[in-house]
Amino acid sequence: PTLAELTARMSVCRACARLVEWREETARVKRRAFADETYWGRPIAGWGDDHPRILIVGLAPAAHGGNRTGRIFTGDRSGDWLFASLHRCGLAVQETSEHAGDGQKLIGARMLASVRCAPPANKPTPDERDTCRPWMARELAMVASSVRVVVALGGFAWQAMWPALKEAGYGLPRSRPPFGHGVEVPATYGEAPVTLMGCYHPSQQNTFTGRVTAPMLDDIFTRAATLAL
Ligand code: SF4
Repeated sequence: PTLAELTARMSVCRACARLVEWREETARVKRRAFADETYWGRPIAGWGDDHPRILIVGLAPAAHGGNRTGRIFTGDRSGDWLFASLHRCGLAVQETSEHAGDGQKLIGARMLASVRCAPPANKPTPDERDTCRPWMARELAMVASSVRVVVALGGFAWQAMWPALKEAGYGLPRSRPPFGHGVEVPATYGEAPVTLMGCYHPSQQNTFTGRVTAPMLDDIFTRAATLAL
């Protein structure tokens, strides 16, 4: 299938009962500030360049962010930090990502979530992570010919993407090194080198406490852009 077909199939997935209920319940009840909006309330597809050199792997959509706007990292605080950094590093045309029709575009990059439906408290279960993995694996396989760098945002994505990359045919070291900010692991796809990078998630908790700063994000994406050239 094409990426568009994959997105279409995934958008009607109901494999995880708890997440289906949460994504739809959140879309019904809404947050007061967004009361007049129609929430997406479904799985969130990968988004960005169809032939990306850089892949950015997140955790799962935010209940009132991606689950509302229908686009990954769009309309939430994590996205504010992420897109601002991507813009500074030449990987996004705008510094903000507010809604699906805002003109934002990624340049040579693509984003995808490890778990495609919004989980309660932003915490998917290991079962939900494993149930959603085939969607990520299929997407990783479909874009593999152009990918040179994969950036995992947070330890959850780092863990989740490992078996998905394997399933998609990437060559990985036998054991998975521990996740850390700035960790780089050499991998391959066929003959091509692919670098796997760790980056702390720009979650509100991390940005608020200063665990993640704008320069830290910029360092990662500048490095990713250099490696992907
Ligand atoms: Fe389907 Fe993934 Fe959503 Fe579960 S999290 S319902 S597998 S799209």
